Amino acid sequence: MKLAILLFLAAFAITLSAQSKPAADLIITHANVWTADDAHPKAEAVAVLGDRIVAVGLNAEVLLWRGPETKMIDAGGKLLLPGFNDAHVHFIDGGRQLDSVQLNDATSTDELVRRVGEQAKKTPKGEWILGGDWDETKWTPPNLPTRQMIDPVTPDNPVLISRYDGHSVLANSMALQLAGITSKTPDPPGGTIVRDAEGNPTGDLKDAAMGLADKVVPPLSHDQRMRAAKRALEHAASLGVTSVQHMVADYGDIAVYAELLQNGELTTRIYAAPLITGVDDQAKIGIRHAFGGPYLRIGAVKAFADGSLGSRTAYFFEPFSDEPNNHGLLSDEMQPLSLMRDRMMKADAAGIQICTHAIGDQAISMVLDLYTDVVKAHHGAERRFRIEHAQHMAEKDFARFAQLDVIASVQPYHAIDDGRWAEARIGRDRASRTYAFRTFLNHGVHLAFGTDWDVAPLNPMLGIYAAVTRATLDGKNPNGWFPEQKLTVEESVRAYTMGSAYAEFQEKEKGSITPGKLADMVLLSDDIFSIDPVKIRDVKALKTIVGGKVIWDPTRRVPYSNAY
Ligand SMILES: [Zn+2]
Repeated sequence: MKLAILLFLAAFAITLSAQSKPAADLIITHANVWTADDAHPKAEAVAVLGDRIVAVGLNAEVLLWRGPETKMIDAGGKLLLPGFNDAHVHFIDGGRQLDSVQLNDATSTDELVRRVGEQAKKTPKGEWILGGDWDETKWTPPNLPTRQMIDPVTPDNPVLISRYDGHSVLANSMALQLAGITSKTPDPPGGTIVRDAEGNPTGDLKDAAMGLADKVVPPLSHDQRMRAAKRALEHAASLGVTSVQHMVADYGDIAVYAELLQNGELTTRIYAAPLITGVDDQAKIGIRHAFGGPYLRIGAVKAFADGSLGSRTAYFFEPFSDEPNNHGLLSDEMQPLSLMRDRMMKADAAGIQICTHAIGDQAISMVLDLYTDVVKAHHGAERRFRIEHAQHMAEKDFARFAQLDVIASVQPYHAIDDGRWAEARIGRDRASRTYAFRTFLNHGVHLAFGTDWDVAPLNPMLGIYAAVTRATLDGKNPNGWFPEQKLTVEESVRAYTMGSAYAEFQEKEKGSITPGKLADMVLLSDDIFSIDPVKIRDVKALKTIVGGKVIWDPTRRVPYSNAY
């Protein structure tokens, strides 16, 4: 009798254990897994159940999770990393840019006209054709393009294509007409309507004159946003970017994400931060930071303290080295300062995370002052204040940055881009504290990596390449521009995964390949930890996995579906 009971119990236990450990949906074996998890930095295999990682370890250990239905991926020894989380993007603008006409490498006006004509053929009648980035110095003679060149190929669409520096645009006749610009229109202050010998506008509008046409371009329609979002999602998947933090999200953008989420089409996880000027909206609903689900979260606001280095509107303590009467401009949100303080207090009281764009050293300092005021007024609470860009630091502010536990949300690609000319503008001393990633880490500041896409490319390999080499794009600093600020590949990957997860309060959910976390991973073509750092920029994503689903796999010719 006793034996029978024991046998019965043993059989019951076996059944139980089989039930309590269901088979994995996906197992990746023979991978060079770098987990970003200090407890277990390396592994060979990963098992996924549902949208979560359930096992990470040796092939043999993880294969215990295999069942008859388990999908298997043999990684062939390739590097498997946590999916990249871009802490600062303009996702819809990025998607728009992918679909807009690209003119920057056009080397003749014929080529410009051909490309604009092609774009017109795929653009619905009446819709504006924007984008461009043309550069007349690339053709001979280097004359500005004219509306007469593009009118014949754009009979049904207004066109407003910009010069690559953003300081002039070419409008076609339809766009000029919609903007009401004629031979009689006077030049606005600070702008030029370029005219031919007869005084008729040629279509070129410079600086403030661009505003005359810009203001008649209608805001994006829901369909346009949707198209842009889908292109952006596809692009992110192709690069191993599994999460993005959308700065300055319009409410219309969030509506598009919500619709995609409902349809099961949101393949990149999104944290959306609308402008702080609308802080009342989020405060009214009563949501708090990182509110939402694994695919879509809100509860942050984006503020602006100053402008940019490129346009000499970043706000510095001292004047620009090459413009002694100018030390930059505070944004209108900072004038008066009490306006910004009130909005920040409101956001903080409501439990909303604050992300503030600050580039010049004085702007950064002032934001740290404001953050200090908020902490004094409201005391405890985990806020994870952020400064976006944190580009040019005053020596005295690194320690304060750390004390306030402010996250430096930085974009390493900007360093190798601006590094070409930044020193002429701000001098050697200030340049030495520019994109000072190493100094931030030395002070214990949390670093989150991103790109600022569409201002810079979305490809995380370029960001890691930039942080590791600091080799400026002009090839003039092959050993690194301020090489003492270089990071290691490990530090860079960490800032791009755990660092950016922390910046959105999600470090317990993602950012490393750890059992229990969301199964967001990327398989790379090369081992970025061991190759020559110069080659990191050429590394490709072979597979991108979000929530256990393969969303990018060029070899299977199903780049955008839940194929496995
Ligand atoms: Zn930005």
